Amino acid sequence: MTGQETRLPEDDEPRSGPAPRRPTRQVQVGNVTIGSNAPIVVQSMTNTATSEVEATVRQVLALARAGSELVRLTVNDEAAARAVPEIRERLLRAGCTVPLVGDFHYNGHQLLREYPACAEALDKWRINPGNVGQGEKRDRRFAEIVELACRYDKPVRIGVNWGSLDPAVLARLMDENARRAQPWSAGAVMREALVTSALESAALAERYGLPADRIVLSAKVSSVQDLIAVYRALAQRCGYPLHLGLTEAGMGSKGIVASTAALAVLLQEGIGDTIRVSLTPAPGGDRTEEVVVAQQILQTMGLRAFTPMVTACPGCGRTTSSFFQELAESTQNYVRARMPEWRERYDGVEQLTLAVMGCVVNGPGESKHAHIGISLPGTGEAPAAPVFVDGQKVATLRGPDLAAQFHAMIEAYVARRFPPKLTQHDEEA
Ligand code: SF4
Repeated sequence: MTGQETRLPEDDEPRSGPAPRRPTRQVQVGNVTIGSNAPIVVQSMTNTATSEVEATVRQVLALARAGSELVRLTVNDEAAARAVPEIRERLLRAGCTVPLVGDFHYNGHQLLREYPACAEALDKWRINPGNVGQGEKRDRRFAEIVELACRYDKPVRIGVNWGSLDPAVLARLMDENARRAQPWSAGAVMREALVTSALESAALAERYGLPADRIVLSAKVSSVQDLIAVYRALAQRCGYPLHLGLTEAGMGSKGIVASTAALAVLLQEGIGDTIRVSLTPAPGGDRTEEVVVAQQILQTMGLRAFTPMVTACPGCGRTTSSFFQELAESTQNYVRARMPEWRERYDGVEQLTLAVMGCVVNGPGESKHAHIGISLPGTGEAPAAPVFVDGQKVATLRGPDLAAQFHAMIEAYVARRFPPKLTQHDEEA
């Protein structure tokens, strides 16, 4: 192939960026809006026993502080239902207004009926049509939950999951498939059953009186390709906002990569209004990791900005010591530690970009693209680190306290570059 053939036609402008968001209804969940042009909402779920109020409050606070904009709790038994109002109360006392979502299976109708304070304290309820019951019992329980949602004016996520797919829907679609001249594969029937179950349950909820703008849909599977196919179909066939997430994503890098691969494709197509990254924490691991990963997916795709990004090169044989890695890490930690205060004080500070590069071969070029960038000396280079601010070289740092000097420059830049936020007092004056 010649270079000529790879060139774009002159009138064909290369496209950059995601497709426009899919228009949907908007659903209000507490103080958070989901859908259409509202920012894509990051959410997470606790893994404490909800009945253990102290531990659950602590974890909700940690998740909310990490940036989770909705937090889901399992409400699996009477003790959990009794605990929910107290959890809400304690969170409010701690100044935390993050909307709480209750996750119900099998006995949701009963708990919501018998614990009105729990029903009221939650900002959204999640029900899984595959875990409501069978046959006539299922219809009665589903109707009861929807009637309660109407009475309490609560939005509901109808969350289908391939591990608990409604057997009646699956059986019906398998029968239909058997009558096809060219039957679909088992995988295709399963995907269609997930979509059908979600859409039929939503239609049923509307028939029972739940307004369309109180419904969010999800249909989670654990395979990346299945998830993409299922959500593309849902996006085409309804106007409800969609909650994206790969279920059982797994631990560590496997879970992060699988979730990112699936969510990135859909988000790039404008599909997805709220996301959860379901990571299995290592024993004693930090539950907030799933929030950080969800934010990083949205931020690296240019969909939202949460915290300043530090670009660092991977390092190679040109770097002379571990000092480069240490500076990249200490700078990321510095920014994370300063962010709570910066966020309060400076407008738009989450847009700040930083670069820490390992040598002066490629370093200066990358540094010039960041608000502030530093290139450390590589092998055989003079022991001096040029710093670029807004594309211009402004200083050369040297010496053992180089990291502290660089962080002081970042601090001064933030104060200079980002306008102070108006306080309520300023606005009233
Ligand atoms: S910037 Fe320099 S040290 Fe970093 S990977 Fe590139 S050549 Fe290696």
